[in-house]
Amino acid sequence: MYLRSILRSLVKAQRLHYLNKFVVMSSQNGFCSKTSDVTLSSPLETVDPELYSLVNQEAQRQKKGLELIASENFTSVSVLQCLGSCLTNKYSEGLPGARYYGGNQIIDQIELLCQKRCLEAFSLDSSLWGVNVQPYSGSPANVEAYTALVGPRGRIMGLNLPDGGHISHGLMTQKKRLSAASIFFETMPYHVDLETGLIDYKELEKSAQMFKPDVIIAGVTSYPRTLDYKRFKEISIANDSYLMADMSHISGLVAAGVIPSPFEYCDVVTSTTHKTLRGPRGGIIFYRKGIRSVTKSGENIMYDLEDRVNAAVFPGFQGGPHNNAIAGIAAAMKLATTQEFKDYQKQVLINCKQLAESLKQFGYKITTDGTDVHMLLVDLRPINLTGSKAEYILQSIEIACNKNTVPGDKSAMNPYGIRLGTPALTTRGMKENDIMVVAELIHKGLCIALEAQKISGPKLANFKNILSSDPKFIESLKILTKEVETFAEQFYMPQ
Ligand SMILES: *Cc1c(COP(=O)(O)O)cnc(C)c1O
Repeated sequence: MYLRSILRSLVKAQRLHYLNKFVVMSSQNGFCSKTSDVTLSSPLETVDPELYSLVNQEAQRQKKGLELIASENFTSVSVLQCLGSCLTNKYSEGLPGARYYGGNQIIDQIELLCQKRCLEAFSLDSSLWGVNVQPYSGSPANVEAYTALVGPRGRIMGLNLPDGGHISHGLMTQKKRLSAASIFFETMPYHVDLETGLIDYKELEKSAQMFKPDVIIAGVTSYPRTLDYKRFKEISIANDSYLMADMSHISGLVAAGVIPSPFEYCDVVTSTTHKTLRGPRGGIIFYRKGIRSVTKSGENIMYDLEDRVNAAVFPGFQGGPHNNAIAGIAAAMKLATTQEFKDYQKQVLINCKQLAESLKQFGYKITTDGTDVHMLLVDLRPINLTGSKAEYILQSIEIACNKNTVPGDKSAMNPYGIRLGTPALTTRGMKENDIMVVAELIHKGLCIALEAQKISGPKLANFKNILSSDPKFIESLKILTKEVETFAEQFYMPQ
């Protein structure tokens, strides 16, 4: 019922769109006598051909290339419909049933539906968990969660950025506090073991004893293994800290039940909605409700996070929610409960394992010697190639990935690794066999990089220069790009 009325407004919006298109087309064909055809309500292709063309070029780029950036995905058609709908027009500060503007009868239903679907997607009991679906994205969701959990200058521990943590878990240099987490709170990082590349829980335990954090964050952005939430919980109990999971990267895998879920052990769980989850760009905060602990004399201490989280989002950090994105999250969460989605996430994992195996066969070193999740890190130190050069050569043949630090890297500014992920390619329908081809294309690209480096020496500028001036390299990059594009274009793309 909800969906039908939402759809009705969408259809209306679409109709308007086609009407505009028709008016413009007929005027172009000379049916209309007016000379100036472009109005405020004309479609993009007539109002702004320059921008329209750029949007189309980006669509082409996405279709022609191989997307291996681990945080990216191609969202579903139904989500795109929500994003492009009239819902973007509405102000709805506040929560369902308690808004600061009128006219929110439908918006209230959409937001409640979105909340319900979020709880369902992660099999959560609504008497034990609530969710705020308004955060504009993952980073605001995190700052809002910290604000709810601890006051200004509260103490936060997250994984060190070069070790796989996220900027929004704290980032500062000797000179400057850079991330809001570090500007407004006191942050102290924990690390991975440089030998194994795995989180050093012993070190975390020791530092937490010293630092006495108010919040410990279990969450990663470039780490190829699952987390030991139970261990995190033990350490947070010992220090009377809240445990917050930031499952931004892995929430799709969690929803599908193919990797361990953080919910059993955490007080708060934040996530983006646009990575493995395959929804629109957005953020969500889950918070516990009910009994937090029982005192020695048998008294229940209750969670009081609901109001604190909601107040931190609005009016704490945000104004009007992005209702088109909230509808998109609702649609994505519904899809996340389907068998097709579970099968998709299983394939994401299979594909990532295959990518690790195939790259190892070509002789590459994979950190932690493999992966449990949707991403892996290639350590390029053994072949003496920087992440920047690898990223550059792959980008020039339409393979997208990002340079990344690997455990033990000397400089975070000049890392010796790349991060690769399989969510986006799997959305396009790729299976293990296809991933073997992808691995080979990556290998061919990196071989060209090594050849070029022999001539250019280590400087990135010289390296780029050789690749764009030497006819031999220009030609081999052109051939390889064609090979990548011909391969990629065979696959489905939701548009
Ligand atoms: C991507 C990510 C975020 C931030 O998300 P944005 O939507 O880019 O702000 C936060 N935490 C983790 C762990 C992430 O991977």
